[in-house]
Amino acid sequence: MLNVNGYAAPSASAPLEPVTITRRDVGPKDVLIEIKYAGVCHSDIHTVREDWGPVTHPLVVGHEIAGVVTEVGAEVTRHAVGDRVGVGCMVDSCRECENCLAGEEQYCLNGNTGTYNVIDADGRITQGGYSTHIVVDEDFALRIPETLDFAAVAPLLCAGITTYSPLRHWEAGPGKKVAVVGMGGLGHMAVKLAHAMGAEVTVLSRTLAKKDDGLRLGADHYYATEDPETLEALKRSFDLIVNTVSAPVDLGAYLSLLRRNGTMVNVGAPAEPLPVQVFSLMEDRRSFAGSGIGGIRETQEMLDFCAEHGINAETELIEASYINEAWKRVLSSDVRYRFVIDASTFS
Ligand code: NAP
Ligand code: ZN
Ligand code: ZN
Repeated sequence: MLNVNGYAAPSASAPLEPVTITRRDVGPKDVLIEIKYAGVCHSDIHTVREDWGPVTHPLVVGHEIAGVVTEVGAEVTRHAVGDRVGVGCMVDSCRECENCLAGEEQYCLNGNTGTYNVIDADGRITQGGYSTHIVVDEDFALRIPETLDFAAVAPLLCAGITTYSPLRHWEAGPGKKVAVVGMGGLGHMAVKLAHAMGAEVTVLSRTLAKKDDGLRLGADHYYATEDPETLEALKRSFDLIVNTVSAPVDLGAYLSLLRRNGTMVNVGAPAEPLPVQVFSLMEDRRSFAGSGIGGIRETQEMLDFCAEHGINAETELIEASYINEAWKRVLSSDVRYRFVIDASTFS
């Protein structure tokens, strides 16, 4: 066992505080990663606050991990000491079910092993990336292309893949009109990725406060949804809407923005159910869908796509001791556009 420093949430409501946790010994197929950067996802906050269900506290969260391999098990072939690697929202899956065999381990029929708050094969609860080191099976460590700025790459491991996967699945590309709802961590990645895929991109944010950024990151249009005219004027405009909002939205109003056969996909994961009036789906044969992160193969594809297109997250680098303030700022949408913790400050 290896003792490592990190920050943990002692309960659903208490501030995060420094902690020492143990990582398992490096097994034959494991890599030990010295974490360099840890992104701060809104899901970390939902989880700790038990928005989605009970949690075993104290819990170390964080599933946007970028680091360097410092030790490899005897049977490791994919990674070597010194490699830059990333870990996202999963650290294992059954590898046998039809979804795993299809490369979509995020939908593992036996439940994927989340990077935190899940019982691991050794019976212990997984602890995430707000720490100095992590031990994971080599198959769940991604190669980080050399050209990507190390300090800004961590958010791609969740915010990047979570938006890349539905954009690919619903074929965002030339001739497609894509709307991104919410200009936060996921939203700003969706804008960059959809633009790079060749789609015409519209941001629907509550206000115009982040308009300049949105246009700079690749949006063609940017509207404020708090203006009642906006949703009225945009009826039947989009082929695909990617909703990244962390709170409930008026689904009917957004569905009415879809053209015939259009799809609205929710990646935002509010605690509350979203009611839908089926007539807003029957009209124009619209679909309402959800999408969860992405498989390992697709996550690697996304990282390589980002390298090819020069895409990184827009980040604000913080020290570990700033984490409670950072969470407050995430909750008040005061982040441009992802906090990343310098993992050397966990020590
Ligand atoms: P974030 O950085 O806080 O961004 C969320 C954005 O939603 C905000 O920037 C804001 O955009 C908008 N928003 C927030 N509160 C709102 C409200 N009350 N009404 C309307 N709009 C509001 O969060 P994130 O890290 O991108 O995560 C977004 C959501 O995706 C979270 O629920 C998270 O748990 C979920 N998530 C899901 C997956 C998945 O696999 N599906 C993966 C990662 C995260 P504007 O300021 O532009 O209005
Ligand atoms: Zn996340
Ligand atoms: Zn499986």
